Amino acid sequence: MKLAIISDIHANYEALDAVLKDIETQRVEQILCLGDIVGYGPDPSKCVTAIQALGCPVIRGNHDHDAANDRALDNLNDTARLSLEWTRKQLSQAQRQWLGNLPFSRRVGRFAISHASLDEPEAWHYIRDLADAERALNRQNVPLCFIGHTHQPGFFEQKGGVTHQIRKAGHQLDDDTKVLVNVGSVGQPRDGDMRASYVIFDRVQRTVEFQRVEYEVAKTQERIRGQGLPEELAIRLTYAA
Ligand code: ZN
Repeated sequence: MKLAIISDIHANYEALDAVLKDIETQRVEQILCLGDIVGYGPDPSKCVTAIQALGCPVIRGNHDHDAANDRALDNLNDTARLSLEWTRKQLSQAQRQWLGNLPFSRRVGRFAISHASLDEPEAWHYIRDLADAERALNRQNVPLCFIGHTHQPGFFEQKGGVTHQIRKAGHQLDDDTKVLVNVGSVGQPRDGDMRASYVIFDRVQRTVEFQRVEYEVAKTQERIRGQGLPEELAIRLTYAA
């Protein structure tokens, strides 16, 4: 009874394809997608089509949200703004509508999924450190929540009112603990490891396993340059920060 949980694909089709192939070897019952399918990367339309083809639960990320609407993007840095303006033109009207109708968060059985913090998912709060995690866990009304958004895999648990950060796992979840798992990013990792990141959650064993998958980074970088997207977006895939 395993689930694969993916997030922050960011229009990196090579990374998504490698992750989906890896998931095929894992015998999972379901895939869940935590959003940011698009933004930054060179293949937004292809990635949306690939995620739609999975027919799996999907929630909305901030880049999906902004690719779907027409708001002015002046609160974003140049790189994010340029890539989103370009992304809007790459997507069909139907794809933009689909992205804009995705839920911000949802329950799946006994746990929840959200792109950013679960208590106000549409505000896109980042959970970066112990203080952020403590605030989120205090308000978390389910024992387990999977998120993305920071592109940094890892997890936080709260037991007896005390919050800890746990960096390494295959980890067994306790019944009396509230847990927040960040599954990392498929298409733009930021934890110094350029390999695509995702999580396998075993519902019966109650274990969380972080997976890393190699993909053709150079091919995605070539596509980014070929589309005239900012060079920083290509370089970032190698230094993964
Ligand atoms: Zn993201």
